[in-house]
Amino acid sequence: MLEQYAPIVGAGVIDDLRLIAKKLAGRVVRNVNSTAVGGGVAEILNRMVPLCKELGVDARWDVIKGGEQFYAVTKKIHNALHGATQEFSPSDWDLYWQTQELNAAQMDLNADILFIHDPQPAGLIVKKTPGKGRWIWRCHIDLSSPDLAVWNALKPVVERYDASVFSAPAFSQVLSIQQVLISPSIDPLSDKNRDLTQEEVAAICDRLQIPRDRPLITQVSRFDYLKDPVGVIEAFRMVRERIDCRLLLVGGSADDDPEGAKVLAEVRDRAADDPDILILCLPPTSHVEINAIQRASDIIVQKSIREGFGLTVSEALWKGKPVIAGAVGGIPLQITHKHSGILTHSVEGTAYWLKQLLQSPDFARKLGENGREHVRDNFLLTRHLREYLMLFLSLDHPGKDVVYL
Ligand code: UDP
Repeated sequence: MLEQYAPIVGAGVIDDLRLIAKKLAGRVVRNVNSTAVGGGVAEILNRMVPLCKELGVDARWDVIKGGEQFYAVTKKIHNALHGATQEFSPSDWDLYWQTQELNAAQMDLNADILFIHDPQPAGLIVKKTPGKGRWIWRCHIDLSSPDLAVWNALKPVVERYDASVFSAPAFSQVLSIQQVLISPSIDPLSDKNRDLTQEEVAAICDRLQIPRDRPLITQVSRFDYLKDPVGVIEAFRMVRERIDCRLLLVGGSADDDPEGAKVLAEVRDRAADDPDILILCLPPTSHVEINAIQRASDIIVQKSIREGFGLTVSEALWKGKPVIAGAVGGIPLQITHKHSGILTHSVEGTAYWLKQLLQSPDFARKLGENGREHVRDNFLLTRHLREYLMLFLSLDHPGKDVVYL
């Protein structure tokens, strides 16, 4: 499978991966997160773990267990770290820690590297034993302006780790441990991103009853306030006053996100019985369907208010689509305004640019083309994997700036 990346990224990249991975042969790298399906973290791990294995690194992936209440608390932590104000009671934190202890007691946490993703399982660090395994906390959240009460509660937990990884420079914090910048990636060979023929795209759109007789504007996202689906509807309505087009909001759920149903109900309410707004709820494994929908769309929107990275942006750019996205979190890493996409700050701005791009198809096409090359150079899985492998190696050489292979 590794060889299949060579035509896309160049053979030298694959050779480098093999060279670095040789130094890590047989090492056990245990990833832990909070959901096997839904959301960007699961999306990445699904592809990263098999590729690591192919390279001879013994990568594994476990998911912590928690009840509905636990996920309600961790969603509040997630939102608060993204900067939203949330109310916590002391029993929320009690539940958080009880769940960490329960999981720590039941899980096999023996490994050379414990790679713990996001705050939900961060407390597993209580199991850290001196001299046995190195622990990395991988933060996928936009930590640029966190609620300080919550961050101050989490920070001492994070500082027990050996290293931390953030997705964008703006997310770094004052920490006593090493911080590394590694942005996420998409897999060009996955069902979500591989090439599809026009016939395949058409067949999937027919099956999902997505009409293609008018320009299609799409946002693909979990139904989450931070993705601002209601703002997308408002922007769309401003555009449709002038231009005949349709809006498609595609969403699914994630096991660790209990807010989805509430947001979806609000979205349905706002869309009312507008025949030009299509709302599609797909199972979280509908990768090829999302791929086809992104390809069938004229413009992709990602109107996030906060965003760790926003894989959907790279997914759309990789398909050569013009993307209009909120200028937040990791999105400006992916889009240079008016070169490889459009960055916006408001509903009105989003509406303005939707109109501009619908009326300037050549400009829109150019944005998509530039975006695809930017993703090729920066946001494909092979670069991401290389940086993870280098990080694992660097942990063998604490305090050294250079690791000789
Ligand atoms: N996704 C999906 N189905 C949906 C909504 C989202 O498969 O109904 C995928 C989307 O294509 C992307 C991931 O879930 O690969 C979302 O990652 P992103 O970083 O955009 O956002 P997150 O959900 O992690 O906040």
